[in-house]
Amino acid sequence: MSKLRFHAIKESLAYKPVIVEENERRSELFGQNVFNENTMRQYLTKDAFVGVMNAIKHGKKIDRNIADQVSSSMKDWALSKGVTHYTHWFQPLTGTTAEKHDAFFETIGGGMAIEKFGGSQLVQQEPDASSFPSGGIRNTFEARGYTAWDPTSPAFIYGTTLCIPTIFVAYTGEALDYKTPLLRALHAVDKAAAAVCKYFDKNVKKVTSSLGWEQEYFLVDRALAFSRPDLILTGRTLLGHSSAKGQQLDDHYFGSIPNRALNFMRELEKECMLLGIPVKTRHNEVAPNQFELAPIYEEANLAVDHNSLLMDIMERIASRHNFKVLMHEKPFAGMNGSGKHNNWSLSTDTGVNLLAPGKTPMSNLQFLTFFINTIRAVHEHEALLRAAIASASNDHRLGANEAPPAIISVFIGEQLTKVLEELEGVTKGKLSPQEKTELKLNVVGKIPDVLLDNTDRNRTSPFAFTGNKFEFRAVGSLANCGNSMTVLNTIVAKQLKDFKVEVDKLIDKKDLKKDEAVFNVLREYIKASRHILFEGNGYGQVWEAEAKKRGLSNNKTTPEALKARISKKSISLFEEMHVMSKIETEARYEIEMEAYIKHIQIEGRVLGDIARNHIVPTAVKYQNILIENVKGLKEIFEEKYLSVSNEQINLIEDISNHIEGINANVTKMTNARKQANTLENIEEKAKAYCNNVKPLFDDIRYHCDKLELLVDDEIWPLTKYRELLFTR
Ligand code: ADP
Ligand code: MG
Repeated sequence: MSKLRFHAIKESLAYKPVIVEENERRSELFGQNVFNENTMRQYLTKDAFVGVMNAIKHGKKIDRNIADQVSSSMKDWALSKGVTHYTHWFQPLTGTTAEKHDAFFETIGGGMAIEKFGGSQLVQQEPDASSFPSGGIRNTFEARGYTAWDPTSPAFIYGTTLCIPTIFVAYTGEALDYKTPLLRALHAVDKAAAAVCKYFDKNVKKVTSSLGWEQEYFLVDRALAFSRPDLILTGRTLLGHSSAKGQQLDDHYFGSIPNRALNFMRELEKECMLLGIPVKTRHNEVAPNQFELAPIYEEANLAVDHNSLLMDIMERIASRHNFKVLMHEKPFAGMNGSGKHNNWSLSTDTGVNLLAPGKTPMSNLQFLTFFINTIRAVHEHEALLRAAIASASNDHRLGANEAPPAIISVFIGEQLTKVLEELEGVTKGKLSPQEKTELKLNVVGKIPDVLLDNTDRNRTSPFAFTGNKFEFRAVGSLANCGNSMTVLNTIVAKQLKDFKVEVDKLIDKKDLKKDEAVFNVLREYIKASRHILFEGNGYGQVWEAEAKKRGLSNNKTTPEALKARISKKSISLFEEMHVMSKIETEARYEIEMEAYIKHIQIEGRVLGDIARNHIVPTAVKYQNILIENVKGLKEIFEEKYLSVSNEQINLIEDISNHIEGINANVTKMTNARKQANTLENIEEKAKAYCNNVKPLFDDIRYHCDKLELLVDDEIWPLTKYRELLFTR
């Protein structure tokens, strides 16, 4: 066994779990390290409190004087908790979170110093953050970006640092992060949805988008993970033969959580409680050492922040338990990948979930309005929705015969399908009194009880209605869900805006009653979006063929999928809804394409290195042992040797072939990479990486994995799947 592998296994076996007690009540821990409404009430003057609440609830500007009061109180609160530094915490387009700590400490002359944190430091900062991706918006030499306080997401303490959630924008105003367009999209959906709600309830003033994410991840022993260069540098295993036992017995799913993982989860959840992340559910997932964690849903902007924060602290806490967290969508070939289901809904300031059926025919018509408009929005923008979840790592799940497919479709269940069929038959124009009564009693009136037994959950659907919310299941585990939430809320906002225009037109021009007009428009929407509805098996080839007939896109790779981001339709959508300017949309496209290229490039380099520097030399070494052995046999048995060691010779030959296979393909891949690197055009370059470089990974891997089965385990250099996956 290679030294590295040997020591890693030894270390992992010797590890004694850190025991984490769970003796505090969660409700008492909850939000202790958050400058939330409750804390603000204690620390802020009445004026300041009202100012901040107005900003949170009604988007009002916070003036300088109030900002000074807030910052000073925030500082007092933070100092009382032993905090020394503050930071503007933001989510640049690298996919991670960023922070730059500054001490509260300030000198005031005469050899004296004080703790200081003024309003201007709270409201705006100018980190020298010129190395973050900007897609050409910001020339590194001139404009710098700045961060600005987002009062709708409360400041929190992590370690000894006060973290202030902020947006990150260029001086010219363009967004350089995930949060800025998300906030704009949330504003757009609020406006559009609240206007539609007025048909049903005049009291509605605000509509909030909610998100409940479910985060899947793997835990791998840290020493073992660090013995694999591919895991460390790319987050996934680029090679490795599958373990004799994998997930086929389904003995991990919902099983008892292994002790060491449980201790990690306890510590993680305790930290989440302090940070106000309302985690609630934990369980084993399908693959060995795969788990899931889910909170109670929250307002979407806060939920996105909490997910980013969670991913960050998971990493840190995992290392205290000698784990490495794998957030990658596909760390192990042949095993289940990880996703991040985004449960999404809209609710009013009057406390109504617009995606939950109500108790009266009128509230159900409201439900159907939002339900059908969402379906129509997905139908109109399915390709853009697919683009929102595109990444090099998520390509391993989408369209790779694993949940869910790269085709976006909507699952609504049998009962609601029937309801839509009935609505499709509604008379055009004015409705007769009988028809209205019929609709009231038998269609719209019946929804609540039918949904109660809507337990049929199609797990293969990328976008499923699950009783009182839609579940967007195609989001990658590694992704910042700001991206998918921005797109989803924008397309729904646009759809609701159009809906309002059409309904108003029917009321004004055709003299229809409000509910008649709504029925009329919904009927047309159902007809127009029938193609996006799919109840069958999303993994099957039958569906691929069917989807093609229906004209749905099936973009299996990121470069293909991302094109929808910069289609005319998408650009004007984002412009019209004031979510992103053309420049911002194009910049994002460029950044994502660049990221794709870089990921494949890095994987190619790492795989080439491992194959040539680890696998080939090991195979040659073993081959030489075999050759010596055959020579010896020949000496002893002379002419008889043929019958003795035919198998031996075959083995030597097999090994030769695989070595040759590796060398030839690594050379091919290196050349393909060189060729791709000469391309200036980003689209061509991404395509070259996708179509010419990436496919060679499989060929190289094939030969390496075959060798793993042939070569003496004693000298095999890489920690094996069985060791990575079954260490507890
Ligand atoms: P599962 O999908 O695994 O069966 P649940 O349906 O219980 O689990 O919930 C998954 C996530 O959906 C949780 O984060 C939960 O808080 C969230 N959720 C529940 N209701 C809503 C809603 N109305 N809007 C958004 N998210 C919701
Ligand atoms: Mg779910």
